[in-house]
Amino acid sequence: MKKRTVIIGGGLSGLACATRLEKENHEYLIIEKSSRLGGRVGSVYEDGYIFDVGFQVYNTAYATTNSLLDLGELDLKMFKPGSFIHDGKKFQMISDPLRDLSQLFVSLFSSVSLISDKIRIMLLKNDLSNYSIDNDPTVDVSTFDYLRSRGFSDKFIELFFRPFFSGIFLESKLETSSKFFKYVFSNFSKGLAALPSNGMQKIPDLIKKNINKTSVTLNRCVESIKPDRRVVLDNGDEIIAENIVITVNSHELIGSKSVQYSPVVNLYFSSKTFPKNGKYIYLFPKDDLINNIAVLNAVSPRYSSSSRYLLSISILRFNCDELLIKKIREKLAYYFGGGKSSYNFLKSFIIKKATIKQDKNFFSNNSVTMQDGLIFTGQHKVNGSIEGAVISGLKAANYIVKSSKS
Ligand SMILES: Cc1cc2nc3c(=O)[nH]c(=O)nc-3n(C[C@H](O)[C@H](O)[C@H](O)COP(=O)(O)OP(=O)(O)OC[C@H]3O[C@@H](n4cnc5c(N)ncnc54)[C@H](O)[C@@H]3O)c2cc1C
Repeated sequence: MKKRTVIIGGGLSGLACATRLEKENHEYLIIEKSSRLGGRVGSVYEDGYIFDVGFQVYNTAYATTNSLLDLGELDLKMFKPGSFIHDGKKFQMISDPLRDLSQLFVSLFSSVSLISDKIRIMLLKNDLSNYSIDNDPTVDVSTFDYLRSRGFSDKFIELFFRPFFSGIFLESKLETSSKFFKYVFSNFSKGLAALPSNGMQKIPDLIKKNINKTSVTLNRCVESIKPDRRVVLDNGDEIIAENIVITVNSHELIGSKSVQYSPVVNLYFSSKTFPKNGKYIYLFPKDDLINNIAVLNAVSPRYSSSSRYLLSISILRFNCDELLIKKIREKLAYYFGGGKSSYNFLKSFIIKKATIKQDKNFFSNNSVTMQDGLIFTGQHKVNGSIEGAVISGLKAANYIVKSSKS
């Protein structure tokens, strides 16, 4: 078989690439190894619940992704800005410093002693208002070193930055690149954390409306790419293509540099009792297991069609067993009350390769590139977010469109 362009992977980057090629009437075929489109963004609809495959949120400031979506149909439901942080003894409300500075300092500590942190966060917000990783010429450092270099006190880092950003980075040492920190901080200062009312799967489902169904092959894995641009599939079929868009970790296919990931176990429980302040994301910097908890149907009622509340619990681990589930049930009763028996375990997702590790060296060598008809793209070529994946896919399509016109 011959195709002008083969897109390997039907995650958000592959889908974004396809939407642009579709507009140009450029022939393409997406090859996706699983049974659905969306890759790391997806949901399972079961027993009246919506289970997102790994807890994640959509930031309303994702301008490029917004442009591919019918936002009316996406019907975003917002979490309350800020979060509830358990400090080991009790929950503390941390209001969103980007919206409500006065409340943040009232809620955390005496405002007088940390007046300098207050000024520094205002300066940071101002400096990063139009931040773009591509236009940042600074030498990258870890998020922790960056915050220290901006003069934030240890107390403020421990009470605000560490819990808040470990919930996003899925690592608590703040070793993640300061450039990714700046990107996330800038987005949160412009937008809110949200869920599509019908689950995260709605994002790829809406993007795929812009592409032709016959240009997608599901349940087919690309096994290798031959030097003459032959794509070899797991059933032995071969496709010869002018362009091959590689949205996946290409090291598995052609032996290039490998991408590192952080793992997460995502457990779902139902609960009879409504956890107080359930419209916020809860963070647990002092807990040895739990990273974050969200009450999904407090934000979008469609996540549970029963009278029970649906709790998503994220744990930074590779594995899940009966003992873990038992411990989490005990912890839920401790944190939210109601007794162990009021929490029913529903489902688990073990995601060994969840978010990509973006340390201080990550952005020095990660651009979307095209060479001899091979286009290397995907989240790891821009940044590890929904918006990063979509931008990477559009950049790949731009290369193809440009080269086909030249
Ligand atoms: C637990 C978790 C939490 C996250 N939280 C957030 C968040 O809150 N906000 C945010 O913006 N982002 C978040 N992200 C990141 C975001 O989901 C990703 O950046 C984005 O979905 C990546 O899209 P992609 O297309 O680059 O890659 P992927 O989604 O990985 O897509 C690659 C696709 O290729 C397919 N594939 C792989 N190998 C082959 C092969 N050989 N042949 C054919 N097909 C193949 C895969 O099945 C997959 O569908 C989170 C991710 C995870 C996992």
